[in-house]
Amino acid sequence: MAEEPPLSEERSEVERLDKKYVFGTWSFQSEVDPTEVVGGEGVRFTDGSGDEFIDFSGQLMCSNLGHSADAVADAIAKQAQEGAYFAPGFATEARARLGEKLAEVTPGTLSKTFFSTSGTEAVEAAIKIARMYTGKQKIVSRYRSYHGATAGSISVTGDPRRLKAEPGIPGAIKAPDPYAYGSTLDPMESLEYIDEMLMLEGDTVAAILVEPIVGSNGILVPPEEYLPRLKEIAHDHGALLICDEVMAGFGRTGEWFGCDVFDVTPDIMTMAKGLSGAYAPLGATIVTPEIADHFEDELFCHGHTYAGHPVACAAGLAAVETYQEENLIDHASEVGDSLGDRLEELADAHPSVGDTRGVGLFRGIELTRDPDERVPFGEREDKISTGSTVVDDVAAAAADEGVYVANMINTLIIAPPLPITEPDIDEAVAALDTALEVSDAAMDR
Ligand code: PMP
Repeated sequence: MAEEPPLSEERSEVERLDKKYVFGTWSFQSEVDPTEVVGGEGVRFTDGSGDEFIDFSGQLMCSNLGHSADAVADAIAKQAQEGAYFAPGFATEARARLGEKLAEVTPGTLSKTFFSTSGTEAVEAAIKIARMYTGKQKIVSRYRSYHGATAGSISVTGDPRRLKAEPGIPGAIKAPDPYAYGSTLDPMESLEYIDEMLMLEGDTVAAILVEPIVGSNGILVPPEEYLPRLKEIAHDHGALLICDEVMAGFGRTGEWFGCDVFDVTPDIMTMAKGLSGAYAPLGATIVTPEIADHFEDELFCHGHTYAGHPVACAAGLAAVETYQEENLIDHASEVGDSLGDRLEELADAHPSVGDTRGVGLFRGIELTRDPDERVPFGEREDKISTGSTVVDDVAAAAADEGVYVANMINTLIIAPPLPITEPDIDEAVAALDTALEVSDAAMDR
């Protein structure tokens, strides 16, 4: 067993217990070094030493409502007191009304929902529904994607987190990405490749599964015509379009959902994260009436004990009502535009910023050690999901300046709680301005 690093004297009791007894996710356990947090308020949270941070990534791009959405907290407490759990076979008000609410806020005719407890489960359900509905098995997804951690959802994931789980489930096929900055294929050309792939696969593909705007794999925004054409390709080949809205959904892009940015309604949509504003574990898979009707006569062979858990659904309903009542989607669009401008300024000031991209409050800063050749920092081999240590160092420098920012594969991921204000953004961008000196200094020069 690898030698454990000494548990530093400076670690709090909570940090030491957590390190010793709890698995850190997606990490070499020897490198796990958790920071105790004691609470949050609005777009900020506080660590065990009393230091305050602007939450510029909404934790795992999920705390869309910030850390003091009292209406959601109250709804959770009320539901827990009035009836914490009744089995999915009983109708509970929270679940029924949340189902109705999702039919209202999702695009097109999407209207019937299977509830679960995470994005992973939402994707597993989508895969299973697509297979049962079409009677076909294959799922086409893309390389630069993340769809979940369990057998099916990790198999359709394209990023390096899938590698330890391979070969995974049969029929998971990967396609190229709309990654204008880093791929040799033009995004629209990559679509024609997918069209040809489906032709060559014959009539065996159940669905194409994509994040409409790719999240953890670098905030990749396709051209306007991309998603409509992708839907056409799927349908031309008798396949469904599944949009994974787990990260892009619920106002993150300045629209309700990522697919709304492109005016496309998928056949199946997955949701989690912002669905409850991260106040409770909740996932959802919503389908069109055609797909829903199919299961009138075919067994809907799927379910979990906690499918539609009343406490989680009460949180979800209160969260969606909060987005509506506080007009947070429009607010995200407005402040998102200024965030975009501020990130452009950072790109101009820092040679190690290769690209900034995104929409609304969903943005990425991709780093480079050589802007002409667009060479990323670092090696991939020693990390599952992070392409370099330089980007970790930049994030650590931002934390020293009081800003928490997530990073993956050479990209800083900016996805703050939707109620963030312009002064908060200015403060966080000033911290990034200082932190990016670390990557500037690490460039090839
Ligand atoms: N799909 C997407 C697009 C995601 O970003 C994530 C999580 N980052 C998942 C699915 C899996 O969600 P969860 O971690 O809640 O299982």
